[in-house]
Amino acid sequence: MSLPSELLNQIGVVLELIVAFFTATLVAFWIGFAVWTFRDIRSRTRDIFAWLLAVILVLALGPVGLLLYLLMRPKDTLAAVYDRQLEEEALLREITERRACPNCQTITEPGWLICPQCRTELRRTCAACGKPLELHWIACPYCTTPVAEPQYVDESRFRPAVIAPPPATTTEPVAAPATLTK
Ligand SMILES: [Zn+2]
Ligand SMILES: [Zn+2]
Repeated sequence: MSLPSELLNQIGVVLELIVAFFTATLVAFWIGFAVWTFRDIRSRTRDIFAWLLAVILVLALGPVGLLLYLLMRPKDTLAAVYDRQLEEEALLREITERRACPNCQTITEPGWLICPQCRTELRRTCAACGKPLELHWIACPYCTTPVAEPQYVDESRFRPAVIAPPPATTTEPVAAPATLTK
């Protein structure tokens, strides 16, 4: 039994269309892989040689190349690396700022109220709970007591001249580190 030639022609045309469709889809995906790879590698390294290598790998091997690229690509994006560097720098700056006496650069401990070398006021104690407070704070973070604003302005203006620690309660925590340094 033989099929009519017209029907055979129609089947051939349909098959050609299907093959063309799949080829076009495959090419589109291939190009898509390469474009995605280019964008991805560009966000991870500034090395143009690495960009070329990654795109050529994906263009040459397609999905397999993409898989290889995903296995070998740099772990972090440049933006993530930059963010982490900023965080580390900020942390380092905070630590050094906190620990050095603004007057004589002596390394101080976070709980100290005055510098043991030059008696510069570093912190004051909370009137309510006695915890050390930074000079620029306007409220105690431990017990929420507000720090009196006028007193803060007054004392900071006279800060270089003020040498004696204000209340008797402050002498205890100060005495311990001061004697340690002697
Ligand atoms: Zn000092
Ligand atoms: Zn307090």
